[in-house]
Amino acid sequence: MQLNIFHMYPEQLNLYGDIGNIKCLKRRCTQRNIETEIYNFSDENKYDLNMGDIFFIGGGSDRSQQLVYKDFLEYKTIFKDLIENNKVVLAVCGGYQLLGRKFIDKNGNEIPGLGILDYESKYLTDKRIIGNIILESTLDLEPNKIVGFENHGGRTFSKYQPLGKVLVGKGNNDTDMVEGIVYHNYIGTYLHGPILPKNPQLADYLILKALQNKYGDVEELNKLDDEIEHQAYQKAIRIMMNK
Ligand code: GLN
Repeated sequence: MQLNIFHMYPEQLNLYGDIGNIKCLKRRCTQRNIETEIYNFSDENKYDLNMGDIFFIGGGSDRSQQLVYKDFLEYKTIFKDLIENNKVVLAVCGGYQLLGRKFIDKNGNEIPGLGILDYESKYLTDKRIIGNIILESTLDLEPNKIVGFENHGGRTFSKYQPLGKVLVGKGNNDTDMVEGIVYHNYIGTYLHGPILPKNPQLADYLILKALQNKYGDVEELNKLDDEIEHQAYQKAIRIMMNK
């Protein structure tokens, strides 16, 4: 089996080591003899998005979001169709904000979003939300908690299913105590870390969804010898929950 993994605008949207998510997907596929092809999609390198099985959009500065928006707008319709057709998309922080309707920055400037989904983000104060975060996931994950790190000024307000209930940290905004959104196989989240190496069960969730989309009858993934990853995950939870 084989998966095409698209890294969208990696030069502009790759804050706090978010490329680790691509490396994690590739490694967990390779360890299962699932071949992968990585496509770095940018304003200079265009590929047919219909070839993609998993799409990753990382975080970036407000300015990077604005720069990427202009080029990404050309692919808004096709990207919306991909999401509506259950393609796996993970968007982190700036990437997450970019797929919404708009983002109002700390100076009150409106950075337009692609409007692929119906939510928006805005600074409410000039205080950024920075720190460790733990969620009780709304997805069928084992283990169910998701750990990460958040650093964002924008607050997101959405009516979609959240990725999780916030146990530690802030999440989408200062009041709702939920984080991220889930829509079909699109996951938008503020969690850096990077999120997938910190939560191998979520990486496998995305890989399985992509294989099921592409090959149909894939029941489950074979187990990996990833005791070290799971020990790191449990340690992160112990440290953050006992603070
Ligand atoms: N514009 C975003 C914010 O600060 C981007 C931050 C990020 O991607 N980490 O809210």
